[in-house]
Amino acid sequence: MAEVTAALRKAGLADVRDSVLQRALYSSDASLYRVVPAVVAHPRDDAEVAAAVTVCRALGVPLTCRGAGTSIAGNAIGTGVVLDFRTYMNRVLDIDPQAHTARVQPGVVQDQLQRAAAGSGLRFGPDPSTRNRCTIGGMVGNTAGCPRSPGSCRAARDGPGPSVLAAAGGLKSSGGELGERLLRVNQGGVFRKWGYESFEDYCAREIRIKKPTAQKLTLAYHYLEKEEPELLARRTELKPLPDYRSVDLLRQARQERDFSAEDYANLRQAVVEEERSLPTVRKRFNELSASHPAASQEPLGPCKAALAAARRLAGALRQLAEPPAPLVTQADDIVATLEKEVERLETSEG
Ligand SMILES: Cc1cc2nc3c(=O)[nH]c(=O)nc-3n(C[C@H](O)[C@H](O)[C@H](O)COP(=O)(O)OP(=O)(O)OC[C@H]3O[C@@H](n4cnc5c(N)ncnc54)[C@H](O)[C@@H]3O)c2cc1C
Repeated sequence: MAEVTAALRKAGLADVRDSVLQRALYSSDASLYRVVPAVVAHPRDDAEVAAAVTVCRALGVPLTCRGAGTSIAGNAIGTGVVLDFRTYMNRVLDIDPQAHTARVQPGVVQDQLQRAAAGSGLRFGPDPSTRNRCTIGGMVGNTAGCPRSPGSCRAARDGPGPSVLAAAGGLKSSGGELGERLLRVNQGGVFRKWGYESFEDYCAREIRIKKPTAQKLTLAYHYLEKEEPELLARRTELKPLPDYRSVDLLRQARQERDFSAEDYANLRQAVVEEERSLPTVRKRFNELSASHPAASQEPLGPCKAALAAARRLAGALRQLAEPPAPLVTQADDIVATLEKEVERLETSEG
């Protein structure tokens, strides 16, 4: 704890508190949970926030931002450093009545912005029940909305970063929404503005998905845009898109396997019309694929399988009462060669 406090102070954060009392005060929010942080810091400006992020990253310490702490699922508590934005970063910077925009620091309370905007005849739409306490930073963090109209009035609606993260939560349900957002992030190169070198880097560090998954998601959504626009138009919250992995099989059938029109229609029926589960679609795809071999076999899978077999062989040889040294050496050489090949293929696939 002392190390973190010292590092934060050294990095330029003036207000860092780690007394037992301070830590206890920040150990709860409006939820049932209690987690005592190591340190509470009160940043004064963007530079101090950036410095705190750098220190936490370097020391491997969790960082939790905190507005008013009105979250009800333990969102504003954490074990490492808690950054309280309300103490200093609580100013409305400017309001542009013509553009209908406001620039605020994240610790501004919703009501405070409302009052500041009232003179220009404007109001900030999302107003949770906790509006006389909750901050704009916390609202964006939670995608907070109005109790009257939760679906249409959301604090993070127009922010592309939060909206991608929110959609990432839906990955397992269908992936359609996440695929759409990722496609836009990739096409527009927005990830660069957010400080990521590449789209893959963004997906890995921000969304926590690997390149193959990101590719499947974006390719599947792009395919729907091109081939099934009416399906996209029919999408509602209650009727999500088909699983992105099923859509990707449909895409492969047309773009990589050269399915006949009849076989493609058969698979499409399972995915789009009958809304079959992924295992069923995959089974049908495999059955139909038997007569449509892939144009180019993906080499990584077989290579990994060969590596696993070689490792088993090397292990089994060593189990013998008298391991034959030349054979063990040969097996080890095969393992080393295959490991290099797998690494090469993985790198070339990203
Ligand atoms: C009685 C009650 C009624 C509620 N009614 C509603 C409602 O009608 N609608 C609704 O949507 N919610 C409601 N909530 C939940 C909560 O009040 C809102 O989500 C509120 O917007 C949270 O704001 P906060 O400032 O308290 O954020 P916090 O609870 O402090 O933080 C919320 C999240 O945002 C993150 N965060 C905070 N500041 C930043 C920052 N500067 N940068 C990045 N991340 C940050 C935090 O780490 C946390 O994950 C209610 C809660 C209670 C207890």
